[in-house]
Amino acid sequence: MERTRSELLYQEALQHIVGGVNSPSRSFKAVGGGAPVFMKRAKGAYFWDVDDNRYLDYLAAYGPIITGHAHPHVTAAICRAAENGTLYGTPTELELEFAKMLKSAIPSLDKVRFVNSGTEAVMTTIRVARAYTGRSKIVKFAGCYHGHSDLVLVAAGSGPSTLGIPDSAGVPPSIAQEVITVPFNDIPALEAALARWGHEVAAVMVEPIVGNFGMVMPHAGYLEQLCAAARSHGALVIYDEVITAFRFHYGAAQTYPGLPLAEAGGSPASALLAGTAGAAGAPATEAAAASEAAASKAAAYFAAIEPDLTALGKIIGGGLPIGAYGGRKAVMEQVAPLGPAYQAGTMAGNPASIAAGIACLQVLQQDGVYAKLEQLGETLAEGIRAAADRHGIALTVNRIASAFSTHFCDHPVTDYAEAQDTDGERFARFFRLMLEEGICLAPSKYEAWFLTTAHTEEDIAFTLDAVDRAFKAM
Ligand code: PMP
Repeated sequence: MERTRSELLYQEALQHIVGGVNSPSRSFKAVGGGAPVFMKRAKGAYFWDVDDNRYLDYLAAYGPIITGHAHPHVTAAICRAAENGTLYGTPTELELEFAKMLKSAIPSLDKVRFVNSGTEAVMTTIRVARAYTGRSKIVKFAGCYHGHSDLVLVAAGSGPSTLGIPDSAGVPPSIAQEVITVPFNDIPALEAALARWGHEVAAVMVEPIVGNFGMVMPHAGYLEQLCAAARSHGALVIYDEVITAFRFHYGAAQTYPGLPLAEAGGSPASALLAGTAGAAGAPATEAAAASEAAASKAAAYFAAIEPDLTALGKIIGGGLPIGAYGGRKAVMEQVAPLGPAYQAGTMAGNPASIAAGIACLQVLQQDGVYAKLEQLGETLAEGIRAAADRHGIALTVNRIASAFSTHFCDHPVTDYAEAQDTDGERFARFFRLMLEEGICLAPSKYEAWFLTTAHTEEDIAFTLDAVDRAFKAM
């Protein structure tokens, strides 16, 4: 594939834009360097670059583009909003509509506030938790990325770890000292940290399903234990659902029926409900009682893992800049103008982002959308696994609905150390081979593949052929 114009633009961009890119994860540094591809247009599941090459997109802009590029319903909403004026600096009815939409999908949000990015959302949840508890430390998990604000750039996952920046320069040691980092999926490590510092901890902050060192599911029972441990020390629980909200189902990870239940021996909540309700041959009254018991177990589980605060972003902006945070009423009422914790934003709740977000969620509300995403995800991930087997390539595929990660290793990936212990050079080779096949992945071994509602069975078949050739060449 010729990419001469991308090369030229990159050389020129290096003179004017730091590193030639406006976010380090867009550089090809982690996959051997050189010019990243400059795209000029995107529609549905496809990109076209400045040299007129076409690519099938699995980057989905690092998650937000779940309805595909330039979805007509979303585009129309953005155009209407632009025609009516892009920024007022006053409240609008649309913001209210969107707040109610988010609340009805994610019941832990008694109150919300819109901001402009995931980074802002997370940063503010920490301030609010500190205001509410009067404490200053936070606990985070190794490899989880929560944006680029000072506090959370400690042991921060995909971008920074790919680039070998475990702690960013410019973050004072006094701030890093406020952050305690423990491994994900490891309750004893969390309990040990809380035993030592718990009385100073304002919040435990976690991606309830990890998206930043590949896709990693919490072990069965992990989130209940995490919440219980935090609360027993008087700390709040903050879920960073910037990637996960509306990615797996119409709701957040905290309400996802695919989460594994300890009670059900690690089966997902949905299996517990379906399995018990469908007890074949049981008398009607017994079956009804069993299904009621299963429903109340699942309800208790979801209540036990409910966070105090949630940070949102990405998908809820339908491809425009957005973030939001929300949570328990008493905690959220710490925020100005009601309370003493200050947070503001000239651009916050701008009509274009809100309209795009509403339109995107409307698309996601349509029947069968998530079932189709699940189906495409399964076909693609299983196909990649099978191709790896055929070619004797050690590969771990972690899939959660329409998001999955491919780790070149022969062991499971359930925490950051395991994600680090994978073959980055092999990933880089695979990434380049796929690019030559016209398939666009994120240029980092830690990032996920994301499907969109615009991908088709034919796209998946095309991708699997390309994967087969790539593995053969490897
Ligand atoms: N939290 C998580 C879990 C993320 O994945 C990201 C971005 N990848 C952020 C926060 C930061 O969001 P933004 O890039 O919109 O600031």
